[in-house]
Amino acid sequence: MKNKAVFLDKDGTLIENVPYNVNPKLIRLTPGACEGLKIMQKNGFKIFIFSNQSGLARGYFMLPALNKAFKTIEKLLESSGVNIDGFYFCPHLPQGLIKTYAKVCSCRKPKTGMLKKAREKFNLDLKNCWVVGDILNDIETGNRAGCRSILVDNGHETEWLTGKFRTPEYKASDLLDAANFIIKNE
Ligand SMILES: [Mg+2]
Ligand SMILES: [Zn+2]
Repeated sequence: MKNKAVFLDKDGTLIENVPYNVNPKLIRLTPGACEGLKIMQKNGFKIFIFSNQSGLARGYFMLPALNKAFKTIEKLLESSGVNIDGFYFCPHLPQGLIKTYAKVCSCRKPKTGMLKKAREKFNLDLKNCWVVGDILNDIETGNRAGCRSILVDNGHETEWLTGKFRTPEYKASDLLDAANFIIKNE
């Protein structure tokens, strides 16, 4: 029996978007996040965060600071009984300043490396997994990997570039709306 999961984009989806922020004091969950994640977890979904973190390649912050930000998110959710099953992030950017991260990789969204890594580790059936994000690159990542996809349509997508993999199954107003859609349509 394989597992099912929801992959959440971090910035602008799970937490309010503050570009390249790792300061715990500026981390706020988005409206409906706690309630939505609770519903997903209660219905047997594992919960993962998957995030492009090119701030590492750009030299804006280092790994310990990012880990601290993840811990802060965990704490904010813990108080409502939600726990995160894993954090996946891509530290890369081909034109980055930090040598170890300055490369073409297979994990930077819209590539699917993070989802595949989680699939191996947690025995996931990606067909029964959902990707939830605030821009179409998140949607493309999910659709390319064979997941189902929901766009939180909160104004963060501004380009609306079309393409084979860039149509979400549903546009949600927030994570609570997304969770209710998932439960009704899984
Ligand atoms: Mg985002
Ligand atoms: Zn990467």
